[in-house]
Amino acid sequence: MALMTGKEYVQSIRDMDIKIYMFGKRIEDPVTDDILRPSLNSVRMTYDLAQEPEYRSLMTAQSPFIGGTVNRFTHIHESTDDLIKKVKMQRLCGEKTGACFQRCVGMDAFNAVYSTTYEIDKKYGTSYQKNFLEFLKYSQEKDLTVDGAMTDPKGDRNLPPHKQKDPDMYLRVVERRPDGIVVRGAKAHQTGICNSHEVLVMPTIAMGPDDKDYAVAFAVPTDAENLFMIIGRQSCDTRKSEGAPIDTGNPTFGGVEALVIFDDVFVPNDRIFMNGETEFAGMLVERFAGYHRQSYGGCKVGVGDVLIGAAACAADCNGVCKASHIKDKLIEMIHLNETLYSSGIACSAEGTKTEAGNYIIDLLLANVCKQNVTRFPYEIARLAQDIAGGSVVTAPSEKDMEDPELGPYVKKYMAGAEGVSAEDRMKILRLIENLTLGTAAVGYLTESLHGAGSPQAQRIMIMRQGDLETKKSFAKNIAKIKGGKDGQE
Ligand code: SF4
Ligand code: FE
Repeated sequence: MALMTGKEYVQSIRDMDIKIYMFGKRIEDPVTDDILRPSLNSVRMTYDLAQEPEYRSLMTAQSPFIGGTVNRFTHIHESTDDLIKKVKMQRLCGEKTGACFQRCVGMDAFNAVYSTTYEIDKKYGTSYQKNFLEFLKYSQEKDLTVDGAMTDPKGDRNLPPHKQKDPDMYLRVVERRPDGIVVRGAKAHQTGICNSHEVLVMPTIAMGPDDKDYAVAFAVPTDAENLFMIIGRQSCDTRKSEGAPIDTGNPTFGGVEALVIFDDVFVPNDRIFMNGETEFAGMLVERFAGYHRQSYGGCKVGVGDVLIGAAACAADCNGVCKASHIKDKLIEMIHLNETLYSSGIACSAEGTKTEAGNYIIDLLLANVCKQNVTRFPYEIARLAQDIAGGSVVTAPSEKDMEDPELGPYVKKYMAGAEGVSAEDRMKILRLIENLTLGTAAVGYLTESLHGAGSPQAQRIMIMRQGDLETKKSFAKNIAKIKGGKDGQE
């Protein structure tokens, strides 16, 4: 069974014993919980779309490891064409959900761990890649959703892991046994963890020789003993449990993050992919972050398509779609969104082969892509609110609209241009609210800022990859200053 249906996926999560807490209580049935279910639906979309012939070439790939068709979210990129298809797939999933569909972190972790384990093994004669390949084949055969977990809580950001007052601020090995290791710590902001079958853990920063216990990569099931998660609150999250779907803005889809606690979790030897090789921690981080910065050139663009569409619908509802300043704002939104897509495609087209044989994006362009993502969605969101008007935040609730006494007033005064019902107008306004201020703003805005690394992390990489010396030599050559690269004087 290399491809699960969406229904089978939901059942497979239901069959697990994932320990999820929210509002101080354990969630007994995460699959039916009002707040969590939309997030599960978004991941389900990655399974449903793979079943549709129309999307097969984007959503699936051929695996050389198991010799059959796999969901692209479990694929190891074999070419620049694979990298480009990945971005297109993410745009498609964003358009279909208007939310974070979560499964990309696992795909990005697979590809980063694949090439890094190869290089560790080459240097130390270890067998991490063999371990990883078994895990990969298992994930492909069972069509699993895997959460890639990188971000540690980090405590005092000015201190390395081994100097933290509380040594658990970075996830670490606390015990080494003949059959495996025991790990303790936490991973923060974990997208999709509560909808994943497995979690693939990686270190979060480059490390020095004293951080040996912290340079650890491994995979465990999300219902492993002593592993549990606490769901993060999102703006307007309890609207999902009010029984008023219009007020949620996006009644079907969403995304949630969690703080994941590893309270002495056992990892068997065959699930360990790095264990103390500190000099490779930075390589793994850089590669994972690079892939995920590319990812944003797809997923945020897809969600941007939904927001631009919603703004255009709001203009129609208000009868202003022909106004030139509205058209100009929509043009600006499209321009910004397609600029994000351009860098997502560009870093993929310029990808190269790693020593291990899989393909990696152009790191400079991937970082430029993500740096743009830290800015443009905010401007697109501002323009969407501008077009939609103040009712995005002042419209009465769905329950007022349904009330026998108040409803007629709400319907009369919230109606838009001729032929536009108050109900349809409110649905579009709430969708814009959801994407720019509500639960989806987590994925579309704040995650655009901090996900895959905060803006400064990309700026450091842009400086490192930007090759300023070569640029200086170009200038010197033309200005006829000594020291130009081609030796001119
Ligand atoms: Fe995928 Fe985007 Fe969500 Fe990251 S933020 S998991 S790239 S949808
Ligand atoms: Fe993300």
